[in-house]
Amino acid sequence: MMRTCYFCKGKVVNQPTSVDFWWADELKIIENVPAGVCQQCGEKYSEGNFYKEMERLAKGAGGAVRRLSVDVVRYSPA
Ligand SMILES: [Zn+2]
Repeated sequence: MMRTCYFCKGKVVNQPTSVDFWWADELKIIENVPAGVCQQCGEKYSEGNFYKEMERLAKGAGGAVRRLSVDVVRYSPA
């Protein structure tokens, strides 16, 4: 069955994706999440128990495969 995007009616294709997940003050990026991605607008659709599993991983299960450094910039109009 082909799925279509709720927002733009684009085609949703199964595609492992990266998801940004905030856990308290920490940002975890979870790679290789099984999800459907709209080919038109990029909206992500979760599969099954995805959120609960992400929460488990964000709490530290499995450990990190690598680290990224992220800059935090304060908004200030020019
Ligand atoms: Zn879409």
